[in-house]
Amino acid sequence: MSIDADIAEPVGGRLGPGAVRTTCPYCGVGCGVRAERGAAGTVRVAGDPEHPANRGRLCAKGSALGETTGLAGRLLHPEIDGRRVGWNEALATVARRFAETQAEHGPDAVAFYVSGQLLTEDYYVANKLIKGFLGTANIDTNSRLCMASSVAGHRRAFGSDTVPGLYADLEGADLVVIVGSNLAWAHPVLYQRLAASKSARPAQRVIVVDPRRTATCEAADLHLALAPGTDVALFAGLLTHLDRAGRCDAGYVDRHTEGLEAALAAARAAAPDAAAAARLCSLPHHAVAAFYEDFARTERVVTIFSQGVNQSSSGTDKVNAIINCHLFTGRIGRAGMGPFSVTGQPNAMGGREVGALANQLAAHMSFEPDAVDRVARFWRAPRVATRPGLKAVDLFRAIEAGSVKALWIMATNPAVSLPDTNQVRRALAACPFVAVSDCMRETDTTAFAHVRLPALAWGEKDGAVTNSERVISRQRAFLPAPGAARPDWWIVSEVARRLGAGAAFAHRGPADIFREHAALSAFENDGTRDFDIGALADLSDADYARLAPTRWPCASRGGDGERFFAAGGFYTPDRRARFVPTPPAPPIHAPTADYPLRLNTGRVRDQWHTMTRTGLVPRLVEHRPGTTLEIHPSDAERHGLGPAAWARIESRWGGMIAEVETSSDVNPGDVFVPMHWNDQFAGNGCVNRLVNPETDAVSGQPELKHVPVRVAAWQPAWRAIILSRRRLMPRAEWWRSAPCDDHWRSELAGQSPPASGWSEIAALVAREGKTAALTEAGHADHRLAALDGAGRLAALVFFHAGDAALPIDAEWLGERFAAAALAPAECRALLTGRAPAPRPVRGPILCSCFAVGRDAILAAIGSGAVSLDAVGAATRAGTNCGSCRPEIGALIAAARQRSAA
Ligand code: SF4
Repeated sequence: MSIDADIAEPVGGRLGPGAVRTTCPYCGVGCGVRAERGAAGTVRVAGDPEHPANRGRLCAKGSALGETTGLAGRLLHPEIDGRRVGWNEALATVARRFAETQAEHGPDAVAFYVSGQLLTEDYYVANKLIKGFLGTANIDTNSRLCMASSVAGHRRAFGSDTVPGLYADLEGADLVVIVGSNLAWAHPVLYQRLAASKSARPAQRVIVVDPRRTATCEAADLHLALAPGTDVALFAGLLTHLDRAGRCDAGYVDRHTEGLEAALAAARAAAPDAAAAARLCSLPHHAVAAFYEDFARTERVVTIFSQGVNQSSSGTDKVNAIINCHLFTGRIGRAGMGPFSVTGQPNAMGGREVGALANQLAAHMSFEPDAVDRVARFWRAPRVATRPGLKAVDLFRAIEAGSVKALWIMATNPAVSLPDTNQVRRALAACPFVAVSDCMRETDTTAFAHVRLPALAWGEKDGAVTNSERVISRQRAFLPAPGAARPDWWIVSEVARRLGAGAAFAHRGPADIFREHAALSAFENDGTRDFDIGALADLSDADYARLAPTRWPCASRGGDGERFFAAGGFYTPDRRARFVPTPPAPPIHAPTADYPLRLNTGRVRDQWHTMTRTGLVPRLVEHRPGTTLEIHPSDAERHGLGPAAWARIESRWGGMIAEVETSSDVNPGDVFVPMHWNDQFAGNGCVNRLVNPETDAVSGQPELKHVPVRVAAWQPAWRAIILSRRRLMPRAEWWRSAPCDDHWRSELAGQSPPASGWSEIAALVAREGKTAALTEAGHADHRLAALDGAGRLAALVFFHAGDAALPIDAEWLGERFAAAALAPAECRALLTGRAPAPRPVRGPILCSCFAVGRDAILAAIGSGAVSLDAVGAATRAGTNCGSCRPEIGALIAAARQRSAA
């Protein structure tokens, strides 16, 4: 069964003809989605078969979009200091505090921190307000954490932030090199396109360069598990190998580039051959040699890269080391070849286009005097910023130091997502004025807000996004605005009006803003700037409403191609690309005797960023219900984790507690922890509290993937499980909380005396209703049930004084929340914690579309289903979105290995 066969329709049936065409709000693949409201407020979604990014596919997160549109937890009214207020009071307060701060402390005392979740129109007005009318470039976006090194690398090599290629190049390539990207989990539909291509054309090769063995390696012919931070050495060695192998495209290099000799000299000095590169990267020589030879002899090569390259103190050099190899071979801008950066966020590219990075001005222009003059004339702006502002990490340092005193955060959660979040939280607590625009009321960041501004969420918003292959797509509203929530562009424009800039922000809607954005891209642009969408500047409102996915460039003068740079035409003054010398540099903080392990962070398959939406969907949470420490078995033993269930992980910057998962997918010396969990879903579970705030000197992107840490067993004195109809926010040294159908499940553990742990939990649960307890005399274990006024189950708690797992069937108990009133005898039966008759064990969920557990898949494999299709036929797993197919493939491969042994 091919993936293509079944994925275009939602689980549960076809959508009607009136379904709205919109775009997924998660990753940078930018999949088209069809969505419609069903009966009783339900929302159904399906992949858009006409969208060029996905042609009907959706991953697990995209397939579950309809389950994220509820109003639970939404911020629906403006608030000042937690008090509900009207829009006028909230907007006037933001405008007044920004104006007063600038009047007293100067233009640079204020800042915006924005997000790749914003639509292009929101981004455009925020950038215009602060850079054109507040006179400071102190606006940075959380895209700084995601792809700033790619932006900087592109600009150094090409003179512009240009992604030269297309997704179709992955299918057209004979060799795809995936560097620092778990594409299968972070960009699942793109991975599925590649997997389908490789399956149809087995001669296509895939090489994965990543310190970890990830799900992406299921498609790999070769996996290079290099030492973290050594990518520059690997690609320096490749450049010297290509030179020695006579693979230089001399015609391309002579006509279209500058600086080869210096780059080659640096590469030769760093890694004169494959053996040297292998030593520097801690890789087997034969594997590096095989990679180099394959790259050298293959004309159609794409090198695709993501956060493993970007989130590094040498991120920009890594990008340029990759680009150097493609320029050297002339393999750029033609079908099936080129360097390819994929962005993490749905509109990271849109943010780059409007210029919402602190070191960009607007429309791919920087702060050169002629650009400042041009933008000032276009905006008719009185005081355009003339120099770059503070990048994200520096911005929060400046806030803590007191030089930035008013901050407006839009659609992002820096108290979780920035490195050294303890410092970020200190900065937010100390900042005299913090406004936060968000669609959720309770996040780790909104806790610091003086003013909360309710923004629209996906399904309610209207505007445009740009994906990683430069395709602009419309996000269209199909749900009404709830409560008093408003579009981000409206909120910014209303504040601008109250700051006296109303004439420049008199847009009637997103179409007006988009036309202005398109016109700026074309303003005095006669081919000297890559970003030109002038052909869209005259769209009527109706044209904008029905705008189909459109790839830029699309200049009004016409003549644009799909790819960039096949025939040169770079955006440097002499129109030649630049080779960049990239001497390898180790990560800034090396492991020490005190902190001997290297912490890597990243995504899990079914969660998105700080979980504000995906963390509320039971079938997404079930794939990974909590944060874990992935550690090699030898390191686990060496650091005393042995049979320990938990570890305390510490760096110089902070600490956390995580469940231990031993795995030989990580190399000895490396550990991995997911980035998503935070104070809303876990206690002591935020990994960025540990992450060092070092940044790449060129791009300002933090080194989120390399932190020296130490680990030690963490042994609790007690454990508990609470099942509750309402969401409770338990407190303990370690806890995690996850939604299930009809109830929430919270697990807790603490080192406090069991008696005090129990009394806190009992008090929390007793608030849920009338309780029935089961406590054996002289025993420190407790069981408690609470029934609401209607006699329905409100909460159940099981408490054990010790560190052993609680022997209860939480799945069966959870199903009892669907029941009507419980009789006392039934209630007592529940307190035994076990189903009356044995039930089949499902195991952790692998297929979230059809809730198929690992054990069921293993049983199918054991019964002879030894292909993906056979497992799909037996269990349905992997037959809808396909996101779980790499994990199923790994189980099949492991079973084959076992039977061959
Ligand atoms: Fe959304 Fe998944 Fe497509 Fe990314 S790959 S845009 S998360 S459906």
